[in-house]
Amino acid sequence: MIYTVRGAIPKSELGVTLEHEHVKWEYDECLANTMYFDKKYQEESIQSDLEYIVPILLDIKEKGGKSVVEASPPIGGQNIKLLNELSKRADMNIIPCTGWNMTKQLYDVFPKYFEEQLANRWIKDFKEGLDTIDGIDIRPGYIKLLLDRGLLSNADKAMLIAAVKASKETGMPIHCHILEAKMVHEVIQVLDKEEADYNKFLWAHADEEAHKETVKLAAEKGMWIGIDNVRKGTSKKELELFNYVLSLGFGHKVLLSQDYDFYTEAKKSLEEHPCTTIFDEFIPYCSENGIEKQEIIRIMTENPANFYDVDME
Ligand SMILES: [Zn+2]
Repeated sequence: MIYTVRGAIPKSELGVTLEHEHVKWEYDECLANTMYFDKKYQEESIQSDLEYIVPILLDIKEKGGKSVVEASPPIGGQNIKLLNELSKRADMNIIPCTGWNMTKQLYDVFPKYFEEQLANRWIKDFKEGLDTIDGIDIRPGYIKLLLDRGLLSNADKAMLIAAVKASKETGMPIHCHILEAKMVHEVIQVLDKEEADYNKFLWAHADEEAHKETVKLAAEKGMWIGIDNVRKGTSKKELELFNYVLSLGFGHKVLLSQDYDFYTEAKKSLEEHPCTTIFDEFIPYCSENGIEKQEIIRIMTENPANFYDVDME
């Protein structure tokens, strides 16, 4: 099953999916915490946000998109109430997450049992839901992590271990933001030690550095590869990495997306927003360069359905 903001759906219903977008990143941590911990929302701002974000979703839908993955974790202001309303108004699936939701210095204060306690919190989110709307417990569909740059910090390592624990317990996949290819090697050491299931692990932003050797290593390990910054003017660069992963025989492990912030883009212009670039630029560019539209659509449908399918049999 795939867990969306309107409840669980079978994987066959997911359809063409943008697997890494931001509906609205929230910079006010206090507000983000209030939404996540107290399940309190600002109704008025939800109403005005809808005016901006619904048209974006409808544009995506018109181009053939059926589902969107909200990649903002709770402290990034994931707003379950807004997501639920958007999903209803646009009649599209939206997959929410649990995950990174604290000041990382907390690890220095509470290092003991940190991994266990954090994992327990995420397991609780899955079992009890992030909130209950229309009588439905809204469960997270995956665990979102954001690792910093440089060497893997103790806090990041602990969060990674917590995510593996919570993933093993619930079946939720892990969506892990890693900007520097060098860090992937450190992450692999941790995952190996924890005997993690690589098939439940996505390297989000593998296209940031597009470091081919590391991408090859990650794919051979079994990681999913996020080519998720397909934005205006980037088709050439993105296709190069995409082609490389296809040539390695790992086309079934690629997740394609744009990583736009819908609200920010809508505020700039609802007429000229770039949130359908993958359909407008990337797919035609691929067709011109030997990959049929049908094939991309199949990859954007089957791969997310396989990655986000939480099957705990
Ligand atoms: Zn993102």
